[in-house]
Amino acid sequence: MKKNKGYLFIIVVLIIVVGILVGRHYLKNKKVEITNEEPKATKTADTVSPTITFDETIPQIVVKGTEFKTIAKATDDIDGDLTTEIIADNVDTSILGEQDVLLKVSDKSGNNTEKTQKIIVREELTSGLPVTMYHFFYDDVKYFKQDNNWLNINDFDKQLNFLREENFYFPTWEEVEDYLDGKIKLPSKSVVLTCDDGDNSFFDLAVPVMEKYKIPVTSFVITDWYGHRYNPELEYVVWESHSASMHKSGANGKGVMVNWSKAQIVEDLKSSSTILGGANVFCYPFGHYNDTAIEALKEADYKMAFTVEGGRIKPGMNKYKLPRVRVTAGNSLEYFKKSVS
Ligand SMILES: [Zn+2]
Repeated sequence: MKKNKGYLFIIVVLIIVVGILVGRHYLKNKKVEITNEEPKATKTADTVSPTITFDETIPQIVVKGTEFKTIAKATDDIDGDLTTEIIADNVDTSILGEQDVLLKVSDKSGNNTEKTQKIIVREELTSGLPVTMYHFFYDDVKYFKQDNNWLNINDFDKQLNFLREENFYFPTWEEVEDYLDGKIKLPSKSVVLTCDDGDNSFFDLAVPVMEKYKIPVTSFVITDWYGHRYNPELEYVVWESHSASMHKSGANGKGVMVNWSKAQIVEDLKSSSTILGGANVFCYPFGHYNDTAIEALKEADYKMAFTVEGGRIKPGMNKYKLPRVRVTAGNSLEYFKKSVS
Protein backbone atom coordinates (compact mmCIF):
# COMPACT_ATOMS: atom_id res chain seq x y z
CA MET A 1 0.00 0.00 0.00
CA LYS A 2 2.86 2.33 0.87
CA LYS A 3 4.28 1.73 -2.58
CA ASN A 4 0.92 2.50 -4.25
CA LYS A 5 0.54 5.76 -2.28
CA GLY A 6 4.00 6.79 -3.50
CA TYR A 7 2.95 6.22 -7.15
CA LEU A 8 -0.26 8.17 -6.58
CA PHE A 9 1.71 11.11 -5.19
CA ILE A 10 4.06 11.11 -8.18
CA ILE A 11 1.08 11.00 -10.62
CA VAL A 12 -0.63 13.93 -8.82
CA VAL A 13 2.61 15.95 -8.93
CA LEU A 14 3.00 15.14 -12.64
CA ILE A 15 -0.57 16.21 -13.38
CA ILE A 16 0.04 19.54 -11.57
CA VAL A 17 3.34 20.15 -13.39
CA VAL A 18 1.82 19.32 -16.81
CA GLY A 19 -1.17 21.52 -15.93
CA ILE A 20 1.10 24.46 -15.15
CA LEU A 21 3.16 23.93 -18.30
CA VAL A 22 0.09 23.72 -20.55
CA GLY A 23 -1.38 26.79 -18.86
CA ARG A 24 1.80 28.82 -19.33
CA HIS A 25 2.10 27.68 -22.93
CA TYR A 26 -1.52 28.77 -23.57
CA LEU A 27 -0.95 32.19 -21.98
CA LYS A 28 2.28 32.63 -23.90
CA ASN A 29 0.51 31.88 -27.21
CA LYS A 30 -2.28 34.27 -26.34
CA LYS A 31 0.28 36.98 -25.65
CA VAL A 32 1.94 36.29 -29.02
CA GLU A 33 -1.45 36.53 -30.72
CA ILE A 34 -2.07 39.94 -29.16
CA THR A 35 1.39 41.30 -30.04
CA ASN A 36 0.88 40.02 -33.61
CA GLU A 37 -2.20 42.17 -34.06
CA GLU A 38 -0.46 45.43 -33.28
CA PRO A 39 1.81 45.78 -36.35
CA LYS A 40 -1.10 44.64 -38.53
CA ALA A 41 -3.18 47.56 -37.30
CA THR A 42 -0.47 50.15 -38.05
CA LYS A 43 -0.02 48.74 -41.57
CA THR A 44 -3.61 49.48 -42.64
CA ALA A 45 -3.66 53.07 -41.32
CA ASP A 46 -3.54 55.45 -44.33
CA THR A 47 -1.51 58.52 -43.43
CA VAL A 48 -0.36 59.36 -46.96
CA SER A 49 -2.36 61.98 -48.90
CA PRO A 50 -3.46 61.24 -52.48
CA THR A 51 -1.57 62.79 -55.41
CA ILE A 52 -3.11 64.95 -58.14
CA THR A 53 -1.23 64.86 -61.45
CA PHE A 54 -1.50 66.74 -64.76
CA ASP A 55 0.90 68.55 -67.06
CA GLU A 56 1.30 71.86 -65.24
CA THR A 57 3.00 73.51 -68.22
CA ILE A 58 -0.14 73.30 -70.37
CA PRO A 59 -3.38 75.10 -69.39
CA GLN A 60 -6.60 73.18 -69.95
CA ILE A 61 -8.82 74.76 -72.62
CA VAL A 62 -12.54 74.93 -71.82
CA VAL A 63 -15.46 76.06 -74.01
CA LYS A 64 -17.44 78.96 -72.55
CA GLY A 65 -20.59 77.87 -70.74
CA THR A 66 -19.74 74.16 -70.69
CA GLU A 67 -19.31 71.99 -67.61
CA PHE A 68 -15.69 71.85 -66.44
CA LYS A 69 -14.16 68.41 -66.12
CA THR A 70 -10.51 68.41 -65.18
CA ILE A 71 -7.99 66.36 -67.15
CA ALA A 72 -6.09 65.81 -63.87
CA LYS A 73 -5.80 62.35 -62.37
CA ALA A 74 -5.69 61.39 -58.69
CA THR A 75 -4.19 58.30 -57.07
CA ASP A 76 -3.78 57.14 -53.49
CA ASP A 77 -1.33 54.61 -52.02
CA ILE A 78 -4.17 52.66 -50.36
CA ASP A 79 -7.39 53.61 -52.22
CA GLY A 80 -5.92 53.52 -55.73
CA ASP A 81 -7.48 55.61 -58.52
CA LEU A 82 -9.42 58.58 -57.08
CA THR A 83 -9.75 60.57 -60.34
CA THR A 84 -13.56 60.57 -60.22
CA GLU A 85 -13.41 61.96 -56.65
CA ILE A 86 -11.66 65.21 -57.69
CA ILE A 87 -13.69 68.31 -56.89
CA ALA A 88 -12.95 71.56 -58.74
CA ASP A 89 -13.57 74.73 -56.72
CA ASN A 90 -14.16 78.31 -57.90
CA VAL A 91 -14.70 77.47 -61.59
CA ASP A 92 -16.83 79.84 -63.66
CA THR A 93 -16.91 78.85 -67.32
CA SER A 94 -19.14 81.82 -68.17
CA ILE A 95 -16.09 84.11 -67.87
CA LEU A 96 -13.65 84.19 -70.79
CA GLY A 97 -9.91 84.03 -70.19
CA GLU A 98 -7.48 82.50 -67.72
CA GLN A 99 -8.60 81.15 -64.35
CA ASP A 100 -6.97 79.32 -61.46
CA VAL A 101 -9.08 76.36 -60.43
CA LEU A 102 -8.58 74.68 -57.05
CA LEU A 103 -8.64 70.89 -57.33
CA LYS A 104 -9.38 68.94 -54.14
CA VAL A 105 -9.39 65.24 -53.39
CA SER A 106 -9.63 63.17 -50.19
CA ASP A 107 -8.87 59.53 -49.57
CA LYS A 108 -11.12 57.27 -47.43
CA SER A 109 -9.05 58.00 -44.31
CA GLY A 110 -9.61 61.73 -44.70
CA ASN A 111 -6.19 62.77 -46.01
CA ASN A 112 -6.67 65.81 -48.27
CA THR A 113 -4.73 67.11 -51.23
CA GLU A 114 -5.21 70.41 -53.07
CA LYS A 115 -3.62 71.64 -56.27
CA THR A 116 -4.16 74.70 -58.45
CA GLN A 117 -4.80 74.15 -62.16
CA LYS A 118 -4.67 76.88 -64.82
CA ILE A 119 -7.53 76.83 -67.31
CA ILE A 120 -8.44 79.06 -70.26
CA VAL A 121 -12.10 79.60 -71.11
CA ARG A 122 -12.73 80.29 -74.81
CA GLU A 123 -15.65 80.96 -77.12
CA GLU A 124 -16.77 77.93 -79.08
CA LEU A 125 -15.32 77.29 -82.52
CA THR A 126 -17.71 78.62 -85.17
CA SER A 127 -15.47 78.91 -88.24
CA GLY A 128 -14.99 75.16 -88.77
CA LEU A 129 -12.14 72.92 -87.66
CA PRO A 130 -8.91 73.08 -89.69
CA VAL A 131 -7.21 69.73 -90.25
CA THR A 132 -3.76 70.29 -91.70
CA MET A 133 -2.10 68.12 -94.34
CA TYR A 134 1.69 67.81 -94.15
CA HIS A 135 3.84 65.43 -96.17
CA PHE A 136 7.64 65.38 -95.89
CA PHE A 137 10.35 67.32 -94.07
CA TYR A 138 13.93 68.28 -94.91
CA ASP A 139 16.90 69.58 -92.97
CA ASP A 140 19.50 69.86 -95.81
CA VAL A 141 21.61 67.34 -93.89
CA LYS A 142 19.94 63.96 -94.22
CA TYR A 143 16.83 64.96 -96.16
CA PHE A 144 16.65 67.39 -99.09
CA LYS A 145 13.75 69.27 -100.63
CA GLN A 146 12.33 67.58 -103.71
CA ASP A 147 9.16 69.60 -104.30
CA ASN A 148 6.69 71.80 -102.41
CA ASN A 149 5.44 68.82 -100.40
CA TRP A 150 8.75 69.06 -98.52
CA LEU A 151 8.69 71.48 -95.59
CA ASN A 152 11.83 72.87 -93.97
CA ILE A 153 11.94 71.40 -90.45
CA ASN A 154 12.69 74.88 -89.05
CA ASP A 155 9.41 76.15 -90.53
CA PHE A 156 7.61 73.23 -88.91
CA ASP A 157 9.28 74.16 -85.61
CA LYS A 158 8.04 77.78 -85.96
CA GLN A 159 4.49 76.61 -86.71
CA LEU A 160 4.34 74.33 -83.68
CA ASN A 161 5.92 77.00 -81.51
CA PHE A 162 3.10 79.35 -82.58
CA LEU A 163 0.41 76.74 -81.80
CA ARG A 164 1.88 76.07 -78.34
CA GLU A 165 2.38 79.76 -77.45
CA GLU A 166 -1.19 80.55 -78.48
CA ASN A 167 -2.47 77.58 -76.42
CA PHE A 168 -4.19 75.89 -79.32
CA TYR A 169 -6.45 72.95 -78.53
CA PHE A 170 -5.77 69.61 -80.24
CA PRO A 171 -8.94 67.50 -80.23
CA THR A 172 -8.77 63.70 -80.38
CA TRP A 173 -10.44 61.85 -83.28
CA GLU A 174 -13.20 60.81 -80.89
CA GLU A 175 -13.86 64.49 -80.18
CA VAL A 176 -13.73 65.32 -83.90
CA GLU A 177 -16.38 62.67 -84.55
CA ASP A 178 -18.57 64.04 -81.73
CA TYR A 179 -18.06 67.55 -83.14
CA LEU A 180 -19.18 66.37 -86.62
CA ASP A 181 -22.22 64.72 -85.01
CA GLY A 182 -23.07 67.97 -83.19
CA LYS A 183 -22.63 66.25 -79.80
CA ILE A 184 -19.87 68.55 -78.47
CA LYS A 185 -18.54 72.06 -78.96
CA LEU A 186 -14.86 72.68 -79.59
CA PRO A 187 -13.04 75.80 -78.38
CA SER A 188 -11.87 78.43 -80.85
CA LYS A 189 -8.21 77.92 -81.77
CA SER A 190 -8.68 74.17 -82.26
CA VAL A 191 -6.63 72.36 -84.88
CA VAL A 192 -5.84 68.77 -85.86
CA LEU A 193 -2.46 68.16 -87.46
CA THR A 194 -2.08 65.29 -89.92
CA CYS A 195 0.83 64.14 -92.03
CA ASP A 196 0.53 61.81 -95.03
CA ASP A 197 2.52 58.68 -95.89
CA GLY A 198 4.48 58.24 -92.63
CA ASP A 199 7.84 58.37 -94.39
CA ASN A 200 11.23 58.37 -92.64
CA SER A 201 11.56 62.18 -92.65
CA PHE A 202 8.42 62.39 -90.52
CA PHE A 203 9.84 60.07 -87.87
CA ASP A 204 13.41 61.38 -87.96
CA LEU A 205 12.72 65.13 -88.17
CA ALA A 206 9.10 65.95 -87.25
CA VAL A 207 8.60 63.66 -84.24
CA PRO A 208 11.34 65.30 -82.10
CA VAL A 209 9.74 68.71 -82.78
CA MET A 210 6.30 67.37 -81.78
CA GLU A 211 7.81 66.02 -78.56
CA LYS A 212 9.54 69.33 -77.83
CA TYR A 213 6.22 71.22 -78.02
CA LYS A 214 4.06 68.30 -76.74
CA ILE A 215 1.80 68.54 -79.80
CA PRO A 216 0.16 65.43 -81.29
CA VAL A 217 0.21 64.78 -85.04
CA THR A 218 -1.71 62.03 -86.82
CA SER A 219 0.48 60.03 -89.13
CA PHE A 220 -1.47 58.56 -92.03
CA VAL A 221 0.88 55.65 -92.65
CA ILE A 222 1.19 53.64 -95.89
CA THR A 223 1.78 50.45 -93.93
CA ASP A 224 3.34 48.41 -96.77
CA TRP A 225 6.06 51.05 -97.06
CA TYR A 226 6.48 52.47 -93.55
CA GLY A 227 4.57 50.07 -91.26
CA HIS A 228 7.93 48.97 -89.81
CA ARG A 229 8.19 52.40 -88.16
CA TYR A 230 5.08 51.72 -86.06
CA ASN A 231 6.02 52.32 -82.44
CA PRO A 232 3.19 52.82 -79.93
CA GLU A 233 5.66 54.32 -77.45
CA LEU A 234 5.94 57.54 -79.47
CA GLU A 235 3.64 59.61 -77.25
CA TYR A 236 2.69 62.34 -79.73
CA VAL A 237 2.13 60.20 -82.82
CA VAL A 238 -1.47 59.21 -83.54
CA TRP A 239 -1.45 56.19 -85.87
CA GLU A 240 -4.01 56.12 -88.68
CA SER A 241 -4.08 54.59 -92.15
CA HIS A 242 -3.21 55.75 -95.65
CA SER A 243 -3.81 52.14 -96.85
CA ALA A 244 -1.52 49.11 -96.90
CA SER A 245 -0.76 48.84 -100.62
CA MET A 246 -3.26 51.16 -102.35
CA HIS A 247 -0.87 54.09 -102.76
CA LYS A 248 -0.25 53.26 -106.44
CA SER A 249 -1.88 53.89 -109.81
CA GLY A 250 -4.38 51.53 -111.38
CA ALA A 251 -4.93 50.82 -115.09
CA ASN A 252 -6.65 54.15 -115.77
CA GLY A 253 -3.96 56.24 -114.07
CA LYS A 254 -6.19 56.72 -111.02
CA GLY A 255 -5.35 55.24 -107.60
CA VAL A 256 -6.06 51.51 -107.26
CA MET A 257 -8.61 52.22 -104.54
CA VAL A 258 -11.07 53.38 -107.23
CA ASN A 259 -10.23 50.35 -109.40
CA TRP A 260 -10.40 47.52 -106.92
CA SER A 261 -13.44 45.52 -105.74
CA LYS A 262 -14.95 46.19 -102.35
CA ALA A 263 -13.58 42.86 -101.00
CA GLN A 264 -10.04 43.72 -102.12
CA ILE A 265 -10.24 47.16 -100.52
CA VAL A 266 -11.65 45.77 -97.25
CA GLU A 267 -8.80 43.27 -97.03
CA ASP A 268 -6.21 46.02 -97.57
CA LEU A 269 -7.86 48.33 -95.01
CA LYS A 270 -8.04 45.61 -92.37
CA SER A 271 -4.41 44.57 -92.79
CA SER A 272 -3.30 48.21 -92.51
CA SER A 273 -5.41 48.70 -89.38
CA THR A 274 -3.96 45.56 -87.76
CA ILE A 275 -0.37 46.75 -88.23
CA LEU A 276 -1.25 50.13 -86.64
CA GLY A 277 -2.92 48.62 -83.57
CA GLY A 278 -6.42 49.49 -84.86
CA ALA A 279 -7.06 52.42 -87.22
CA ASN A 280 -10.32 54.43 -87.30
CA VAL A 281 -9.46 57.28 -89.65
CA PHE A 282 -8.39 57.03 -93.27
CA CYS A 283 -6.80 59.27 -95.85
CA TYR A 284 -7.45 58.42 -99.53
CA PRO A 285 -4.29 57.78 -101.57
CA PHE A 286 -4.04 60.72 -104.04
CA GLY A 287 -7.42 61.83 -102.68
CA HIS A 288 -9.16 59.37 -105.06
CA TYR A 289 -12.34 57.73 -103.82
CA ASN A 290 -15.74 56.46 -104.99
CA ASP A 291 -18.86 54.87 -103.46
CA THR A 292 -17.24 51.41 -103.36
CA ALA A 293 -14.28 52.84 -101.42
CA ILE A 294 -16.64 54.44 -98.88
CA GLU A 295 -18.65 51.21 -98.45
CA ALA A 296 -15.39 49.30 -97.91
CA LEU A 297 -14.26 51.81 -95.26
CA LYS A 298 -17.53 51.37 -93.38
CA GLU A 299 -17.24 47.59 -93.55
CA ALA A 300 -13.64 47.70 -92.29
CA ASP A 301 -14.79 49.84 -89.33
CA TYR A 302 -13.23 53.18 -90.29
CA LYS A 303 -15.22 56.14 -88.92
CA MET A 304 -13.89 59.03 -91.01
CA ALA A 305 -11.91 59.62 -94.21
CA PHE A 306 -10.02 62.60 -95.64
CA THR A 307 -9.73 63.79 -99.20
CA VAL A 308 -7.14 66.31 -100.43
CA GLU A 309 -9.78 68.95 -101.09
CA GLY A 310 -9.21 72.25 -99.34
CA GLY A 311 -11.41 73.52 -96.51
CA ARG A 312 -12.36 73.16 -92.87
CA ILE A 313 -14.61 70.49 -91.41
CA LYS A 314 -18.00 71.43 -89.97
CA PRO A 315 -20.78 69.63 -88.08
CA GLY A 316 -23.07 67.63 -90.37
CA MET A 317 -20.47 67.04 -93.10
CA ASN A 318 -20.15 63.64 -94.78
CA LYS A 319 -17.59 61.85 -92.58
CA TYR A 320 -16.06 60.03 -95.56
CA LYS A 321 -15.46 63.18 -97.64
CA LEU A 322 -13.66 65.47 -95.21
CA PRO A 323 -11.51 68.34 -96.53
CA ARG A 324 -8.15 69.53 -95.15
CA VAL A 325 -5.86 72.52 -95.11
CA ARG A 326 -2.70 71.90 -97.13
CA VAL A 327 0.61 73.10 -95.66
CA THR A 328 3.21 73.53 -98.38
CA ALA A 329 6.75 74.80 -98.54
CA GLY A 330 7.25 78.44 -99.37
CA ASN A 331 4.20 79.74 -97.49
CA SER A 332 5.02 82.25 -94.76
CA LEU A 333 4.38 81.76 -91.06
CA GLU A 334 1.72 84.49 -91.38
CA TYR A 335 -0.03 82.39 -94.04
CA PHE A 336 0.04 79.36 -91.71
CA LYS A 337 -1.35 81.42 -88.81
CA LYS A 338 -4.27 82.58 -90.98
CA SER A 339 -4.99 79.09 -92.28
CA VAL A 340 -5.45 77.65 -88.76
CA SER A 341 -6.87 80.65 -86.83
ZN1 LIG B 1 -0.04 60.09 -99.87
